[in-house]
Formats: sequence, C-alpha cells, structure tokens
Amino acid sequence: MATCGPYRCIKTLGKGGFSEVKLARHSETGALVALKIMKNSGGFDTSMMELVRNEIDAMKDLDHLNLVKLLDWDEDAKYVRPSGTQVKVFYLALELVSGGELFDFIAETGRFTEDVARYYFHQMIEGLEYIHTQGVSHRDIKPENMMLDAEHNLKIADFGFSSSQAMNETKRGTDGYMAPEIYKGVKYSGQSVDLFATGIILFIMVAQHPPFTAASARDPHYKLISTNRVDVFWKVHTKRKEGGLDYFSEEFRDLVASMLSYNPHERPSLAEIKEHPWYKGPVPTKEEITEEFNDRSNQLAALNNQEDQTIPDHSAGAGVWQPNVVQRSIPKGEESKAIDIERVLADYVPELKRYTEFYSTSSADDLFRALATYGEDYAQEHTFDDEEYRASFKMKAKAGETPVEFSVSVLKVDDDKKCIEVVKDDGDKFEFYEVYTNLKKFFGGHANTTL
Ligand code: ADP
Ligand code: MG
Repeated sequence: MATCGPYRCIKTLGKGGFSEVKLARHSETGALVALKIMKNSGGFDTSMMELVRNEIDAMKDLDHLNLVKLLDWDEDAKYVRPSGTQVKVFYLALELVSGGELFDFIAETGRFTEDVARYYFHQMIEGLEYIHTQGVSHRDIKPENMMLDAEHNLKIADFGFSSSQAMNETKRGTDGYMAPEIYKGVKYSGQSVDLFATGIILFIMVAQHPPFTAASARDPHYKLISTNRVDVFWKVHTKRKEGGLDYFSEEFRDLVASMLSYNPHERPSLAEIKEHPWYKGPVPTKEEITEEFNDRSNQLAALNNQEDQTIPDHSAGAGVWQPNVVQRSIPKGEESKAIDIERVLADYVPELKRYTEFYSTSSADDLFRALATYGEDYAQEHTFDDEEYRASFKMKAKAGETPVEFSVSVLKVDDDKKCIEVVKDDGDKFEFYEVYTNLKKFFGGHANTTL
C-alpha cells in the first residue's frame, strides 16, 4: 500500500470535507496512528490550508484524556502510491481512536439509560472544560465528532472549526447542532454554542433521535423551546414513548431544556451544569461500562445470523463492474476506461471497532459486484477506488438537504471471511443509518457470518 512521509498506510478510515483519514503505521516506531491527509492536486486551496493550520494551532498544545491528541504533522510530505507515482500532501498524525463513533454504537445497539448517558456527558463536559479553560472553543460539537477509544473513553475529535476568540461572527458548525444565535448571524460566544450542541447530544443519547432538525424559528420542535413552551416540547417528544413523560427523568428534562434555551444568557454555564442535580446523579463504574459494551456487542453479533439467508441475484452488476479495471459511474454512452490495476483487499483490523459493518463468506468480487448493482439501482453517483476494494456512493438529496455520501470497503478477515464496512462521508447521521440498514438488506444472504 501507499506510504506517506514516514508512515505506511494500511486502510482508509474515513473521509472529511477536504481530507482522507487513513490508518497508518510509523515505519520506525511501529506506532499506529490516524493520518489525516490533504492532497495537493495542483496547489492547495488557501481556505483549506487555513482550516488545517487552524486545526494544528488549536490542537498542538491540548492534552487531555477526552480529546484526540495531535502527535505530529508535516506541511510538505510525499504520498507514494504502490505504483510509484507521487503526490505532495499535508498531513496530521492523530492519536488513533479505535472504538468507533459513540453514535454508531447507540444507533446499532439502542439508546442509553440516563446513568450511562451521564457517564459520557461527564466526559464531554470535562473535555470541553479543559479546552474552554485554554481559551479555545470547538464549534463543531456533533455526534460524528464524539469518538471512543479501546477502553470506551470518549474523545472529542476534529478541531478544524475551533476558535481561540471568546466572541465570534463567522458562521461555523453543522446544521442541526448550531445554536440559534449562529443562525441569526449575530456575535456569539464559542463556549456557549459548544454547550448548546452538547445539550443536543445529551438528548440524543437517551432518545436515540435528535430533539429538532434545526434551532431556528421555522422548526416546529425548537419553536416550542424558543417560545417558552418547554412543557409542550416534552409532551410532544414523549407522546409515543414508553412511560410517557417519565421516559425522561424530571431532572434530565430540566437540564436539557435549560441548555437548549434560545437566549444564550439563560443557558447554564459550565460550572452551573456541573452543579445541576442531574449531573450529580449516579455514574456507572468503568467495569460496568465495559460490561454494557460487551453485552450489546454480543447481541449485535447474534443479530447478524438471523437475516434472510438467500443470496440475491446481482448478476446485473457484472455488466457494470469488472475486477481490476478503473471504473467511474460513467455517463451513458461512454466506455469505461480499461486500465489494468491491481486492487488490494485491505486487511480487517480487529482492534478497530465499527458498528456499521457485517461479515460474509462470499468472494470479494461477488461482494463488489453486489455493490456495483446497488450503486446502479439506488445511488445518484458511485465511484470505485483504484487502490482498495472500496466504493463511494452519493445518494439523492431530500429537498434542501445535503445528500448522504458514504463509502463501503470490502476487507479481508481471514482466508474465507470478508468484512463489509460502511462509513459515512457526508450528510445527516440519522439518514445514513437508514441507508445502512437498507444496504445491509440488499446484501441479503451475503451477510451470512459473524466474526
Ligand atoms: P474532517 O475535518 O475532514 O471532517 P475528521 O477529522 O472529522 O475530518 O475525520 C473524518 C473521519 O475520519 C472521522 O469521521 C472518523 O471516521 C475518521 N477519523 C478521524 N480521526 C480519527 C482518529 N483519530 N482515529 C480514528 N478515526 C478517525
Ligand atoms: Mg468531521
């Protein structure tokens, strides 16, 4: 596989707005890292460079258990492909966070009890307290950026939008997690918007869905908060839930609603959050959290075997995909370029947890053919990676929304077992889970084994 500076790339972990993140090993120390790579394709984009430098400036002096650590970076490194071709890159070597995203875990295994949610809420608040004390605000707190390490500790990732100013004006963040003052376009406190987004995450951990689509007056759910009808907000959200209003404890409702207040001055400060009765409630031990994770992972594995075991007919994909040929989703009438390439079946790395993956004894080519057929049938666009058994998909967007984009890798577990790993690249997390569920159904009997 490719090398990048002193690192050997092993597989692609994820894609961000401007970057690709790869699992890589340092060739001398043997240390595993997450390499965030920006390729220079005919000159780096200056706004992109600003974001990356901003990320480095913010992260280089931060060191806390609940933050992803920046280990190393190089603005002028070489990325060498297995074929020998080279490209200039800018990379950041980040501490590898191997437990996956917290929210993939919740989406696949179910909501958290308030006690388990409290365990993670404490870790988020501790991480935020540390960065806020250093004069930094994150400004892109959202489920995708809450990762877990091998010991189930929460790590806040992605400091691309962070700021070292107390008051800010630039519109930064992600729709759905931005505080109302950002939508209004007025000056806002970076620390206050971080805490607002943390309130949304707290709600999601227990409800398994977001409290509203956006914190704007047009959103029917947020409107109930911004117009002081908090009791109606909770009634609406618990109407179809077990136990009704008692689905959430009273203290939980009080804390979440106050953190989501329309007026930033009515929201509790970080110190006040830590004094809130809900915050001070019982917290599971580390051992209890480990047990919870193991139980849920085992149940998830058992589910993999109960699927319909018929192998679907994906012979249509044979026409659109051939092994070892460079392939794009090509406009009708054009021929696909038949350049001989050797795709590598990257190894499955068991230490690296993903919850949106399933396993198969089918051949890599059959699985890739299924992917090609899926792309033809359901995706707006799809492309195949030239280096790995990896394909990227862009779905149709709902009106006014960012389309879901995701990548699927076929990985080698052992001689007769493959892993089909699905990772979101862009779009809404909750829509992505729907797409994932449907994709897994599409694979039918291919999903026929467990690890
Ligand atoms: P961007 O700023 O371009 O959005 P991110 O930093 O969010 O990029 O990284 C994109 C994806 O790469 C993440 O969603 C995650 O899946 C993966 N990733 C990023 N950092 C790490 C890390 N330290 N360890 C493991 N995976 C990571
Ligand atoms: Mg990101």
